Amino acid sequence: MPGHAPRRRDPRRALVLALVLALAACRRPADAGGAPAPCATAATPSAPSASQATPRAPPGEPSASASASPGPEPVATASASASGPRLPSRAESVVVLEALIRKLAPLHRPLGRPAPGDWLAEHPESGQTFAEYRVGLPALPDLAEGPSRRRTLCIQPLGPLTDAERRVVVRSGEFMRRFFGRPVRFEPELGLELVPPEARRTHPSWGDKQLLAPFLLDHLLGPRLPADAMALISFTASDLWPGMGWNFVFGQASLGDRVGVWSIHRNGDAAAGAEGFRQVLLRTMRIAVHETGHMFSLEHCTRYRCVMNGVNSLDEADRTPAWLCPECLAKIVWATLVEPAARFRELAAFADAEGLGELGGYYRQALAALDAP
Ligand SMILES: [Zn+2]
Ligand SMILES: [Zn+2]
Repeated sequence: MPGHAPRRRDPRRALVLALVLALAACRRPADAGGAPAPCATAATPSAPSASQATPRAPPGEPSASASASPGPEPVATASASASGPRLPSRAESVVVLEALIRKLAPLHRPLGRPAPGDWLAEHPESGQTFAEYRVGLPALPDLAEGPSRRRTLCIQPLGPLTDAERRVVVRSGEFMRRFFGRPVRFEPELGLELVPPEARRTHPSWGDKQLLAPFLLDHLLGPRLPADAMALISFTASDLWPGMGWNFVFGQASLGDRVGVWSIHRNGDAAAGAEGFRQVLLRTMRIAVHETGHMFSLEHCTRYRCVMNGVNSLDEADRTPAWLCPECLAKIVWATLVEPAARFRELAAFADAEGLGELGGYYRQALAALDAP
């Protein structure tokens, strides 16, 4: 495939290369060394093995009651619990979720044929049904309480962040809490002084200052993985590159190590007024839940327009909705046992508060569809 080099085949790391955005499109002749296809995670052979290494969580879910939005700033100590009613067990939820898929399907548009340059035009994928997900030994959160239970989504801000960027990170974390129905905790912000010179560079053609993503995974995040973290996800405003032959990457994760880092550097200017902030927030939210979805072992969605669609450019990402199709929703509900209507209400309220009208409208339609006979 023109513009792409062979994928990285490091067996230790399933690259969940974020979004993918447009490595090929963004490559310049001066750095034409060969860029692996990003966001290869879900479809590569290495992803299932990473999932298999994750022990299954026991069925049953004690409900966490407190629900507090993380405060504005600082993000260092903010946290929020998962809240709301839960389905009784994964085994019992399957029939409920199959009915849910049928009720919600009319709201969703098929993905259709990819345009030239779109993800599926360059990376043929077959998708993953709800049934295939359940038998694929997915990575699942611990649903029981306990100090060493891996039940929490931990967010690691990596500064420096402007006030507007910090608000994007905090609001994205709150969106993740409502989206996955898991507790979210913000870890104390770390600074770039922890990144040594050998893990930094200035892009040879563009002049962007960049951080080496694998270093962040192995040396900054891995050793800091909390005992109760289902995943430790870092947000940074710094640009990232994953190593030799790459120009940049939007993010990278290691499923087996439960760590990931996403950059908001290329998502726009969060300080450019209310509309600019909303654009950066929406793009960051989409990346956050797409990549975290991979950490729940969701593969790319090929059936509907869905936040789990693979995307190959910022343009394609902006054409992708921030919600899950019914099939992918069933996977997340089965994994987390979050009650679907409660989840929709929480997400609608979030979207309305952030001025994300299309997103709020979708969740209201979805609630109405659940109530239909
Ligand atoms: Zn992906
Ligand atoms: Zn989907």
